[in-house]
Formats: sequence, C-alpha cells, structure tokens
Amino acid sequence: MHPFLRSLFPSFGRSGQRPVHDINRLRASHAALADDELRAICHNTTSLEETIAVTAIVAKRVLGLDMFDVQLQGALALANGSIAEMQTGEGKTLTAVPAIVWYAKKFAGAHVMTVNDYLARRDARWMGEIYRRLGFSVGCIQQNMSAPERQAAYACDITFATANEIGFDYLRDQLALRPEDQVHRPFAAAIVDEADSILIDEARIPLIIAGGEFEEEDLATRADRVARRLQSGVHYQIEQHFRNVTLTDEGIAAVETRLGCGNLFAAENLSLLTAIQDAVHAHALLRRDVDYIVRDGVIESVDEFKGRIAPDRRWPAGLHTAIEAKESVALKTQGRILGSITLQNLIALYPQVCGMTGTAATQADEFLKIYDLDVEVIPPNRPVIRVDYPDSVFRTRREKEQAILDEIRSVHLTGRPVLIGTASVGESERLSALLADVPHQVLNAKHEEHEATLIAHAGEPGAVTISTNMAGRGTDIKLGEGVAGLGGLHIVGTNRHEARRIDFQLRGRAGRQGDPGSSRFIVSLEDDIMVKYGEDIDRLQHTPESVQRIVEGKNLEIRLFLQKYEGALEGQRQILHRDRQKLLTGDTPDFDRMVTLRAIDDLWSDHLAAVTELRAGSQWVSWTGRDPLFAFLTRMDHMFRDMMDALPAETEDRLKAARESGFDPSQRGATWTYLTTDNPFGKLSSRILKGIMAKFKQRN
Ligand code: ADP
Ligand code: MG
Repeated sequence: MHPFLRSLFPSFGRSGQRPVHDINRLRASHAALADDELRAICHNTTSLEETIAVTAIVAKRVLGLDMFDVQLQGALALANGSIAEMQTGEGKTLTAVPAIVWYAKKFAGAHVMTVNDYLARRDARWMGEIYRRLGFSVGCIQQNMSAPERQAAYACDITFATANEIGFDYLRDQLALRPEDQVHRPFAAAIVDEADSILIDEARIPLIIAGGEFEEEDLATRADRVARRLQSGVHYQIEQHFRNVTLTDEGIAAVETRLGCGNLFAAENLSLLTAIQDAVHAHALLRRDVDYIVRDGVIESVDEFKGRIAPDRRWPAGLHTAIEAKESVALKTQGRILGSITLQNLIALYPQVCGMTGTAATQADEFLKIYDLDVEVIPPNRPVIRVDYPDSVFRTRREKEQAILDEIRSVHLTGRPVLIGTASVGESERLSALLADVPHQVLNAKHEEHEATLIAHAGEPGAVTISTNMAGRGTDIKLGEGVAGLGGLHIVGTNRHEARRIDFQLRGRAGRQGDPGSSRFIVSLEDDIMVKYGEDIDRLQHTPESVQRIVEGKNLEIRLFLQKYEGALEGQRQILHRDRQKLLTGDTPDFDRMVTLRAIDDLWSDHLAAVTELRAGSQWVSWTGRDPLFAFLTRMDHMFRDMMDALPAETEDRLKAARESGFDPSQRGATWTYLTTDNPFGKLSSRILKGIMAKFKQRN
C-alpha cells in the first residue's frame, strides 16, 4: 500500500490493529509464565504474534518498559520485511527486538546494522539481556577487533555491527587463502537501523580493499606544481553545481609548456593528463576545512551528508594523492584495488532485509525501486505538537547569518534550549566563533560516544548546541526540568539539505514523545543548494524547498541509472567468487589451491582496474551515436570472458614457476580497507544530471 494511504488507514496495513490486538491478548495470557516457559514458547511457536508477545513480556522484565501499541505495530512491520518509519524518540531500539528475535529464530542468525561502532556497542548492551533470557547469543563487532574476535561475534545468533565493518569483513573473506580465515557465516537477515542513512546516503559509496604498491608520487608532485599556478576562468572553467572542472585551451597550452610534454592528449601522456586533471580538481573544487581537513599530516575527508570527519575514507586513488600533494603532506601508497563492493550490493546479499528510521516516507519510491522494500509509516505514540515555522528566506548569506544569530540569542534569552543544525564542519565553526558571547557546545560527529553524551544534554534549560547533521544521531534528547513549560527545544536549521529527510531528521530532534518544541530553517538564495542548481532553475521562482524536491527526484534517476552500470560488475564478481569459494573449501592439495586462489585474485584485480578505466574513459559516454550503456556492458562482458579464459593457463604458469622457485603462496602482502569519497562515476553522474536538468529547463 502507498505509505500515504497507509498513514491514513493504518489498520489496512499488514501491521494493523488486529494483530496488535492479538499480541496484547497473548501478552496478558502469558504474563505470569516463568522465563524458561517463555523461552520454550519463543523457540517452539510458529506464530509471529506470539513471538512478539513473549519478547515484549521479557523486555518488560529486563528493562521495565511496557511496549506501546505503536511499537508492536513497528515490530510487525519489521518482521514483515518493511522499512518502519517511526519518529525520533519513539523507541525504535526496543521496537526492533521482537523482530530481531523472529529473524534470529527463523534464519538462525541476524545482523543488526547501526551507523557507528558506539551504537552497535550501546544497543548490544542495552537490549542484550532480553535476547539472552530468550536463549539467543549476542555479539558485537568493533573496529579494533581481531579476526578470532570477529569470528566469535559473527557466530552468535544476533550480531550488532556497522554496515561498513560487515562489508570490510566480507571483502577480506573474499581474499582468504584458508577457509578458517573467513569470519562470516552465510548472510541471513539484516535489520538496518537509521535505514535511510545506510541504504541511501551510504549506499553508493564503494568499500575498497587494497594491497601491494605502485608509485605515482612523482607524477602527482609534478602535476601539483603546474596546477597550483593555473587561474580559474583563464586556465580552467568550473561548473560549480556539477562539481566538475575543465581545462580551457589556454590552460592546456600552459600545462603543455610548463611540463614540456608535447600534446597533453597524446596516448603516451594519458597518466600525465589524469594527474593534471586530479591536481586541478584538488585545487579548484576541494576546499580545506569544508571537504577535508588536514590533521597530523594526514588528509581526512569530510562526509558531506553527515558533516562529519570520515578518517577512513579516501577519494579515488589519484585524486587523494593530488590533495596530499596540494597540502604538501606525505603521499600515501594507494596500492592496487583487490576488491570492492557498494553497501547496496552488500545488502542485496541478504535473503531478508528490513529497517527502521525516523525519515523514510519521502524516499519510499527509492526503497521500493532499489531494494524492493515497502515503507510503513507508524503513527507516533503521542501526537506531535511541535510547531514547524515556515522557512525564513534571505537574499544573501550575510543577512541569513545575522538572522540566525538573532534567532539564537532571542530564544536563548527565554531560557529554552536551542539546537542549531549546520551543513558542514566549517559552518559550525564559523557560527561558533560569531556566537562567542553565548556559552555553547559544537558537535562535528568526530567523537561518537562523547558527542552522544553532549547531545543527550541538548534539552537542558539554556543549552545552545551547534551540530552537523549526523552528530549524535541515534541519541535521544530529553527535555530538562521546566523546559516543557517554556516551549521545549527549539531547532534552527541553517541550510536546506539536498534531501528533505535530512531536514526532517533535524526537526525531529524536537517534539519527541508528545513534547512541545519548535523548528525553523533560516536560509538564503546564496546557499549551496541554490548555487549548485540555481543556474538551471530560475532562482527567484523557486524556494530552497522546491529546488530540494526537484533535486531529490533527479538524484534518484541518477542512482537508478548508475545501478545498471554497477550491477553488471557485481554479477561478474559473484560468478567468480562462487567458483573461488568452491576451490577454497574444496580438496585441491594445499599448495595448488593457494597458487590458484592468488591467480584468481590477481586477475580479478586487473579486471577491476580495466573496468574502472573503461568506465571513466570518455569514449563511451557519448550522447550521440551508440548507446553508452550497451557499449560498456558488451565490452565488459568480453573482458570478463577473456579473463576467465586466461585463468587456466595463468594458473598453470604460476604453478610451474612457484614449484621451481620454492615460492610460498601462503604469504600475501598487507591489505587495507577504505571507503572512497566520490563514486567512480563522478564525472558521468554530472553529465547525466546536466542532461536531466536541461530537459527540465525545456519543459518549464
Ligand atoms: P529512537 O531510536 O526511536 O529515536 P530510542 O530507541 O533511542 O528511540 O528510545 C528513546 C527513549 O525512549 C529511550 O530512553 C527509551 O528508554 C525510551 N522508551 C522506549 N520504549 C519505551 C516504552 N515502551 N516506554 C517508555 N519508554 C520507552
Ligand atoms: Mg534510534
């Protein structure tokens, strides 16, 4: 059912009133049973309602919390494989417990995915005793864990972990040379918390595993020396809203002169050209303290959706090196990419998926088209009485900033707490400097646990908290004493995000569980979202909110389009790895097996590099002539067949060489994992967006 209809007629949904009524009846009739009797029922019953009922009874005994009807409804939605939309503070952590029990039982294993290590730890601890009393083991994955610790945690009935950790473990498993080195069991059910963040915002960021070495340092340094002297508007043009930069004729001439390389576009200069493009990109488009920070001689990227530092994330190899050269820090070895997977493809490996978040409805279309997941809107336990004021829109950024400061100061004078949501670390810090006269806290999502403690206090009388949008997500803000009487927490949003749900998340920080509260976005026509898209859309006819709706739709179109390109490579990976896994667990002699596995891994790594080049190459991205997708897929298919054909001979050669040289195949060099910041389609998606925007302009 359409989420909107479902919200009007909740009893029509699968998780309607009748099952909730049944659960409550069972809750009453089973209430006096002993723990072990409940445990027996839990493991023997085939009824979802009864499973939820006994879990709720045990939850009451362990935590002292009586599950609300809407939480039972949410549990039903999750157990039915939907995304449950429930507002912040409604108690989703507890809501998920009966569904997790249901899946752990049905699939003999469940992964609960959280957005950070702290929440994985918190929720495993907070809810752990309920599971244990029902006879389920509970594990939790943390970034610093060893392989044996991970194995033990994944062996549990229920495992809490970030999606990234699960993905990195998956990639490492794919390179294992001995079956006992693999930490995962086959995937069963995934229960995804903050589902929009993981399934949409993070979904297209590839997880990468790399190893070995190759040196591009010299090239990057040379390119940097040239790029830093080029001028915007003279040597290159910036297409700000597409985050793209192109050299002008004058720029090309300048580069050719300074490098003395002859025709920059000649085939033998390809790596030089790429290095120059990366260097110009790094200088022209990436801003220190906005897109990345430099800390202890290391480049750390800033996640634009979350406005937080993502130290384990890198730009695609060459670009990251270019930023290092720009900032004169030591260039890190980028290594060869040995394997990669997007979260979207990782999630697709689970036979059963469900999720929960405060904001899913605006993305219902996307959940359905990309994941085949329904969104079910669960009503709040108590009506939301928060007042959402209309946006205040200013012409310039300057006027807006003044209005934000005025608003904070005037609300602060009344004693009400104020939470300010900014778009970037830089903006938080600028605002903080301007607000020197008011005591306040700044949260950049740098320290998950510490910030969770700070945000928990953001509802105290007189508290002023400046926060980027992911900081403290998952932590409840309770109102301090007397604050409800003053009007509750006031939220100030300083930007409209590209997706409305990110704004709704911010708003949802106030007015939890029927509390009073209010929110207002104070924005300007000079904001990023307007500048980025304003050229194609008449700025005066549109408010930031209406631009937002257009951009949301276009972003989905792009994601669906790119999915077609990525799906093919993922299909090939699965074919190869099915064979590899058979070999790994099969009875090929010890020596032969490892040499073959390494041959597979090396050829696959070559294939990945070739496909990346093919994808980035411009020859197939043409808007005229052949269908670029078809051309790409055909070529990729040939490349894969060639690789598979080459494998037996390659293995044969290696076996011979290895036997002769006494080579030890069990020793592999170090590998490391990271996320890339940009998708490998950066330039392509810009072009698609441009095409879509041009069409949009024509129509209007
Ligand atoms: P969400 O994830 O939906 O934002 P949480 O799971 O963090 O919310 O829970 C928010 C707060 O609500 C917690 O303090 C939790 O103890 C409380 N809570 C959850 N369920 C209940 C309940 N049935 N009765 C009372 N308090 C509850
Ligand atoms: Mg939560």
